[in-house]
Amino acid sequence: MTATQDLRERFTDALMPNYGTPGVALSHGDGTTVYDVDGNEYLDFIGGIAVSALGHAHPALVTAVSEQVARIAHTSNLFLHEPEVALAEKLLSLVGEPGKVFFSNSGTEANECALKLAIANGKAKGRTYFVASTDGFHGRSMGALALTGKAAIREPFAPFGIDVRFVPYGDAAALNDAVDESCAAVILEPTQGETGVVPPPEGYFAAVRDICDTTGALFIADEIQSGIGRTGTWFAYQQTGIVPDVVTLAKGLGGGLPIGACIGIGAYGDVFAKGDHGSTFGGNPVATAAALAVLDTIESDKLTEAAADKGKRLAEGIRALNHPLVAEVRGKGLWLGVELTAEVAADVDSTLRSSGVLANPVRPNVIRLAPPLVVTDAQIDAFLSVLPRALDAAYPPGGRP
Ligand SMILES: *Cc1c(COP(=O)(O)O)cnc(C)c1O
Repeated sequence: MTATQDLRERFTDALMPNYGTPGVALSHGDGTTVYDVDGNEYLDFIGGIAVSALGHAHPALVTAVSEQVARIAHTSNLFLHEPEVALAEKLLSLVGEPGKVFFSNSGTEANECALKLAIANGKAKGRTYFVASTDGFHGRSMGALALTGKAAIREPFAPFGIDVRFVPYGDAAALNDAVDESCAAVILEPTQGETGVVPPPEGYFAAVRDICDTTGALFIADEIQSGIGRTGTWFAYQQTGIVPDVVTLAKGLGGGLPIGACIGIGAYGDVFAKGDHGSTFGGNPVATAAALAVLDTIESDKLTEAAADKGKRLAEGIRALNHPLVAEVRGKGLWLGVELTAEVAADVDSTLRSSGVLANPVRPNVIRLAPPLVVTDAQIDAFLSVLPRALDAAYPPGGRP
């Protein structure tokens, strides 16, 4: 029995079945390369689902975390510490607007904060409901799940304690019809990640901003997957010409350490009264030190620009294959959805894996790619040389036209 087989059996026996048992057991990594427990090497083109912005074992992250854990790992929010203050200041400077930050431990919790903030802001004004998008994803807790429009994960846990109305993503007219003066907030992703990296039509976020301005509903941008440089700007909304009222972050922010943030812009930073919200671990020294190292490294190594350039190389490289199984390559920067003409994404993914590449069949007909921002041109070219074989292997019966 291999080390992987042994761990898979033990995983199946000891862990809840909610994830299924993954096929690969990772041991360690270096940059965009990871190794499994049997010594096999992989190019990591999913980056822990858009999390490992600096790749694996980046020296800046290792140093920041090691030094911080050796100094003080936890203070609770009874006591403040410098890294959380510096990180909040840094995030506000990247947003480029006045505001205030709450730190959580995950994206779900960042959205819980946004949800409570919108309730605190709207309750006295009679704002009673939320609007979110069909097939959108905002997390798995009962509040964040209530906002999640993916019926398969939402409906088994209904009903929810809050009134959420769903509109088709990208349809400004439908949103306009759904939002009135009693809407507390609209929550949307700049591009739907879990749905297969689906961008909205041009001008959608500007239309959402207008609708929220007209009705007074808060505009919450869920940048948990799109943020932290991945699309070529710090936050994806920065390419739309508007500023939301609330921005939520997680995934790439800690580069692999668990941290989320909810940013209230302008007066929305001061909605909570003392005691309205909290988290034991939120903003803890190790996670905030990690996030500071991530942001500093992205800045000093110009990784937002790199994400734009390398993403173009990757997307154009896939398009240039002209493979009949590829219907479309969409997304910006190092965050792509490769839509296939058949529901064989799992087959493509498994051939990629046996050829030494990790990706993600996010939908039956979509492969999601989100490599670390430090991925090199040579690694992109290596991926592009492996992909045609994986596509060929999954080509449906009947062969090429
Ligand atoms: C991943 C994700 C979440 C949930 O974040 P967790 O850290 O898993 O709780 C919420 N919204 C979006 C857009 C995400 O991609």
